[in-house]
Order: sequence, then structure tokens, then C-alpha cells
Amino acid sequence: SEITCTLGSFADVPKDLLTQIDRLEELFVVTPEKLKEITDHFVKELERGLSKEGGTIPMNPTWCMALPDGHETGTFLALDMGGTNLRVCEITLTEAAGEFDIIQSKYRLPEELKSGTADELWGYVADCLQQFIEYHHENEDLDHLPLGFTFSYPATQDYIDHGVLQRWTKGFDIDGVEGKDVVPPFEAALRERNLPIKLAALVNDTTGTMIASAYTDPTVKIGCIFGTGCNAAYMEDCGSIPKLAHMNLDPSLPLAINCEWGAFDNEHQVLPRTPYDIIVDKESPRPGQQSFEKMVAGLYLGELFRLVLLDLHQNPDCQIFEGQNISKLQKPYSLDSSFPAAIEEDPFENLSETHDLVQNKLGIAATKPELELMRRLAELIGTRAARLTACGVAAICKKKGWETCHVGADGSVFNKYPHFKVRGAQALKEILDWPADKGKGKNDPIEILPAEDGSGVGAALIAALTMKRVQQGQY
Ligand code: BGC
Ligand code: MG
Repeated sequence: SEITCTLGSFADVPKDLLTQIDRLEELFVVTPEKLKEITDHFVKELERGLSKEGGTIPMNPTWCMALPDGHETGTFLALDMGGTNLRVCEITLTEAAGEFDIIQSKYRLPEELKSGTADELWGYVADCLQQFIEYHHENEDLDHLPLGFTFSYPATQDYIDHGVLQRWTKGFDIDGVEGKDVVPPFEAALRERNLPIKLAALVNDTTGTMIASAYTDPTVKIGCIFGTGCNAAYMEDCGSIPKLAHMNLDPSLPLAINCEWGAFDNEHQVLPRTPYDIIVDKESPRPGQQSFEKMVAGLYLGELFRLVLLDLHQNPDCQIFEGQNISKLQKPYSLDSSFPAAIEEDPFENLSETHDLVQNKLGIAATKPELELMRRLAELIGTRAARLTACGVAAICKKKGWETCHVGADGSVFNKYPHFKVRGAQALKEILDWPADKGKGKNDPIEILPAEDGSGVGAALIAALTMKRVQQGQY
């Protein structure tokens, strides 16, 4: 089956490589018992994050206080500033329930911007918006187009249209933004260009994903991103958020919480970190932060893969790629998650696609046993990611007492990494002790489903819901 390992077919792998594979199994396999232990700790951390004292996971209130009823209407802009792309959309929520029209343009987010200056960042973002408006609304007289801005980083929000960046994640490293409200400099860049845009809501991609999915499926209670970064949002009730008690909110009111679970276990109490995870963390721009994310998110899966191979090359006991030029393999982040994903895509028989991939990308002519080792390594890294993230989903459901629910999910790892979905479903089954016929990913009590476009449609819906609340004097 898709989720069992292929170790049985390693007949021709020499003993020293087999020993290494055994060692990797020991490092990367997460047992059902460990999954349960992680989930129980996760539940406590979700609670600690909501407490007055606070915990490790931020558990950010987003001030998104309603699920859509499917009848929202209007035209909205959505801006998605994720880890890899910048996207501008115009979304029209039409009269028909749960339907919408969308036009969109994608822009590259240049690598240099991620470590440049704040002015360069906001200037670039505003330039993209300007291009979009000039292209789609040439010579039109527009005013105050409402914008949902999907800003997929942890932010402290006192209002839905403001947010103080807690810290950059996903390799971003721009000075002078952390600890400050990102909205004023963003709006200043819009004003400089005379853009007819009014920011209505600052949205996390996970919240957008949850809301967009709930637009068409009212049983959705959680939104997840398994992409460059990894995170989840869910619908809490105000009465269960002790850190907001001073606001005297109606305890039954719903409020979306952006967990920012990437920070889970930053104090290293429960996650089975390997020496490779420790290197990824040390060499990142923000060591000590996003411990969970660094083990499971797309930005890091290829890097983990590379670090293991490099280590095995340098290991006197086995020395893979002997006599080959490994200069490309030595370059940090030279492999992204599409690399192990493509290796897992290869029909196992002769691994000829893996051979060509490794040749083209790394300039290494790998032997058959080396190819088999890489295949197993890809499986181990991909499986660990899927299983660990399932702990987060299970923890939210356990905390809320939800025995059944739908989870809307998006992101490159979820959508493109082979077997990610079924491995996650299998892990949920092990954690939650479902009967034998469950855990296949279809019609499971808790089902993780591909979401509607959260950072587009979701952000537009949140803008619509916000404007409705403003009109009704509820903010
Ligand atoms: C960010 C989250 C985001 C996630 C997925 C993380 O690095 O901190 O805000 O939701 O990536 O994009
Ligand atoms: Mg995104």
C-alpha cells in the first residue's frame, strides 16, 4: 500500500548502506505512541497559548468573528503575500450561494526582497497592486476598493485591519518590521501611488483557508496550510480565551484563532528532533524559532534531505557518492521540497527517473543502492512531516471535543507531495484510535480536504464579513 515502506525491496543494497538506512529509520520514524504523546502535549500548548500568561504557541485572535453563510456578495481585492509568490486577485462574490468569480495575476517574490529593506518590500507589493489595477481597470474611476490582505506571518492584532508582526518566518529577514504594525507603511506605499484601495482586513492564510472552505462546506471548523510554512486556524468561542477575559466579550461569540503552531515545542520537550533538524535550525535566520515548522514545512523538506545526503557522503562508514563532484549538494537550500517529492513520484522498479533527476540537479551519477537509499530517505522525511502535522489537527479536535469535522487544507506540500494526505489520515487514525476501516482519508470522522482558495476568496470573504459587521456597528 502507499503508506508502507519499500524496505523489503532493498535486497541489493550493500550492508554499510543498509546500516545507514536502519539508522535513518530510527531517527525519522514516529511511532503511534509518540504521535499520541505529541498530541497530548500539543493540546496543553493550545490551552497555554490562550491563557493570560501565554505559552509558546501565539494563538493569535484574528477578530474574524463569523463564518460565512454562503450569501455574501460584492467585489473585493485580495492580496496574498505568502512565502514564495505574490498574488493579486479581484473576487466577485455573486448572488448564487457559495459562488464567486475571480481574476488574478501572480508576481514573483524576488529572493533579494526577503532580506532587503522594509521600504523595498512595501514598494514592491504596492507596485504589483498598481500594475493589477492599471491592467484590469484602465481609465476607470475607482474609489476605495476594499482589500483583504493575506499576510501569512504571525501578527498581534488589536483590530482586524491592523497587525504587529511578531517575527518573520519562512526565511524572511527584513529589518525594521518585527514588532511594528505592518499596515501604516503598507498604506503609505498605496498613498504614494494614489491607489484607490482601502484595506479592510489583514488575514492569515490559515484563517482565509478556513473561511473559504466554510463558504461551501459548513462542517469546516479548521483551516490548515501545509506549504512553504505550516500552520492552522480554528473557530474558538470567546468564553474559552482567558487572555481576552478583560474585554468582557459575549462568551458564546465565535472568534477565529490563528494558532501559529509552527512555534510548537520551541523548548524541545517532545518532538523527536534529529541532528539534521538541529542544523536546519542553527543555520536559519531565526534559530530557536518555529521548531515544529522546521520539521514539517515545504521550505525545509528538501534541505533536510540534502543535509542527510551530505552527512552520508562525509561518513567514513559508508561514503555515498564516492569520487563524485558534490559541490552542488554542498549549497544550502539547493534542493526544495519538489526534489524528494519527485523521487517519491518515481515508480520504484528501476528508479531511472530518480537517477536522471539527481544527475541533472546535482551533477551526481548515483549507483542503484544510492538511489534506493534516497528513495527511502524521501519516504521517511515526507512521512514524518505528514504524521507530525496530524498531531496538530488531532490536538485542536481533542481540545474542542470535536469527534467529527472537516478541515480545509491548502499549500504545496498538501497538494503536491505524494501520499501526504493518506499518511496524515493514517496518523489521525492511530492517534484517535479509529476503527480499522477508517484512516484512508475518505469519509473519516475527521477529514482533511483540499480547500477553496483561502488567500484569495477567503480574504475577500473576510473583507465582506468585516464590512458587514462595521455597518452593523459590531466593531
Ligand atoms: C507563518 C504562518 C503561516 C504559515 C503558512 C508560517 O511560517 O508563521 O502565519 O500561516 O507559515 O503559510
Ligand atoms: Mg500561500
